[in-house]
Amino acid sequence: MSSCNIQDVFGCYVFSEEVMRERLSKETFTELKNTIDKGMPLSAHVAEAVAEAMKNWAMEQGATHYTHWFQPLNGYTAEKHDSFLSLSKDGTHAITEFSGKSLIKGEPDASSFPSGGLRATFEARGYTAWDCTSPAFLKEDSSGLTLCIPTAFCSYNGEALDKKTPLLRSVEAISAQAVRILRLFGDETTNRVSVSCGAEQEYFLIDKKMWKKRPDLVFTGRTLLGAKPPKTQEMDDHYFGTLKERVSAFMKELDLALWKIGVPAKTKHNEAAPAQHELAPIFETVNIACDHNQITMELMKKIADHHDMVCLLHEKPFAGLNGSGKHNNWSLTTPDGVNLLNPGKTPRENAQFLVFLCAVISAIDDHPALIRASAANAGNDYRLGALEAPPAIISIFLGDELTAILEEIESGEEHHDHFGGVLDTGVSALPNLPLDSTDRNRTSPFAFTGNKFEFRMVASSASIAGPNTVLNTIVADSLCTIADRLEQAKDFNKELNALLVDIIKKHKRIIFNGNGYGAEWIAEAKRRGLPNINNSVDSYRAFIYPESIAVFEKHHVYSETELRARYEIKMEKYSKIVGIEAQTLLQMLHRFIVPACMRFADSVAQCIVNVKATGLSCDTLAAEDLLRKVSGGIAALHKTMKKLEKAIQKAENFGDDYIAHANFTRDSLITIMGEVRKYADELESIVAKEYWPIPTYSDLIYSV
Ligand code: ADP
Ligand code: MG
Repeated sequence: MSSCNIQDVFGCYVFSEEVMRERLSKETFTELKNTIDKGMPLSAHVAEAVAEAMKNWAMEQGATHYTHWFQPLNGYTAEKHDSFLSLSKDGTHAITEFSGKSLIKGEPDASSFPSGGLRATFEARGYTAWDCTSPAFLKEDSSGLTLCIPTAFCSYNGEALDKKTPLLRSVEAISAQAVRILRLFGDETTNRVSVSCGAEQEYFLIDKKMWKKRPDLVFTGRTLLGAKPPKTQEMDDHYFGTLKERVSAFMKELDLALWKIGVPAKTKHNEAAPAQHELAPIFETVNIACDHNQITMELMKKIADHHDMVCLLHEKPFAGLNGSGKHNNWSLTTPDGVNLLNPGKTPRENAQFLVFLCAVISAIDDHPALIRASAANAGNDYRLGALEAPPAIISIFLGDELTAILEEIESGEEHHDHFGGVLDTGVSALPNLPLDSTDRNRTSPFAFTGNKFEFRMVASSASIAGPNTVLNTIVADSLCTIADRLEQAKDFNKELNALLVDIIKKHKRIIFNGNGYGAEWIAEAKRRGLPNINNSVDSYRAFIYPESIAVFEKHHVYSETELRARYEIKMEKYSKIVGIEAQTLLQMLHRFIVPACMRFADSVAQCIVNVKATGLSCDTLAAEDLLRKVSGGIAALHKTMKKLEKAIQKAENFGDDYIAHANFTRDSLITIMGEVRKYADELESIVAKEYWPIPTYSDLIYSV
């Protein structure tokens, strides 16, 4: 590929503000901007003009179709393509048409998307509604360009059937509460606060030919069998290591494709495990960051294919190797670009920063299970708490300096020599809060990293909409509580100080700066009363805790019905995923592993017979020993396979009882799969390589 000029390429397929300014009349543009920036209603004639401009722009670049692009609850993106084709009134020739109505609203048949009972199948209609806050773009593939219009997806009754609608609602909620806080600090003009987000995406790349030979990878995205090779990541030689040419070519094509559609891909590097890599974008408004992360995942898969590779986004593709996650960097920003989690330089900024900081601390401590649940999925269960990713216990890392400042505020003792003077707000802390940016802790699930929080538990394959919806809502709620109190204050400075002291006293148990991988932390967290929820099934319950329902309803993010629907969908999805894994595993054993082991046993037996037949006084002890081991292994494997078969049958008979089904899946099915795997992996380590019917871990992770 030849070199490219980033500035020319970036956003060339985006119906951006610049394009709109160029192609819309001044009045139309202003009205649309008011809708985008201030949430004002969009009039029909503006929609009509925008649709026309969008169509012309798309067609000039060669697009023939448009699609309402949305994010149903299956966690993927969905699209249904319509052409711009229409027929003239007399039906004799083709004209092109794209009305304002078609831009604003679509009606895809929604009966095949999960709805958790929200949309009875007799009312299969779902509606997609244009989200003008995320720009339309042209999606490119070998067949050409398609105009993609980001949309929200809801039912006839307005219930959200997607991930975007609640995210947008949560952004509204936190914005409203954050503005209340800004008013208290004398900001009379800011009337909107946005959430900024940068999602660092981890992934694996493996050779496509190898992948094809592994039904487990093809059907489930992870290996269900596989003995660990002698060398994986012990030498720490892959992290930040030199990029292999094939990987580098993939990354280059990916960057280019992302830049064209306006995704600000910034950093790329090798990750800890062999064949593991990471891409980090520059942060954006959370809604756009979420759309962009979905497209990034999609393009990673598509472009890997161009290079005869497969991109694995699963949280744990290989047992014994680091899995993949997504670091969700999160902050709050004003329209002027002021980061509200930046400690700031003046006393007023400092005090305001402390309020936002304490709001996050109390939010996380009030809802640890909910934030944990937002990162849960079947794949992440193998990663969280396994000493490679954050523990399953939610805590916040603040770093020593910031923690010391909070301790000072709590105790009311001022160490002027150490931390400077008293703020004119009455809060005793540094006028210029010093933050050591090198203060790093990689083991914390939720870390303050200088001017943002980094939620490190998020599942690599999942949409970031869920975690951000939770985060926005619970912080909105704590900001609301704070604003309620401060707005009533007679002496603002005194009340502010008292409030911070109260929050720190009540919630400091959630702050932990130590090693999150240590066994001591589990005991310590228990003493502190912090929940340690180590599996998805238990964690999903947090979505329907009364306090969760209350906070979501209060801020109009989810209704109780919407929450219960999501709980049901998540539980069902968990059982389905594991169910498919169990069946795939059983088939692989029946059709590949057991026959191969038998062939090998047969060859060893033949060897013994043949050697003995020579009549020479040969020693066949080694071969007999091997035969015993292999036969014994096959017998043991066979026994557990029977168990697995029964468990699979049982799992199929839970009917509508999705809770019992998920519990059984976690407690029995997964346990038995583990037993089966143990025997199969032991066999792999003694059966000759030429007999082993599927690529091994070494074949896979060193395949590119
Ligand atoms: P690291 O995590 O390795 O320290 P950086 O601090 O450079 O890396 O940033 C990691 C991610 O955080 C990037 O995607 C970056 O865009 C994002 N980020 C930086 N500042 C903010 C912010 N204010 N809000 C949200 N995300 C941010
Ligand atoms: Mg990071």
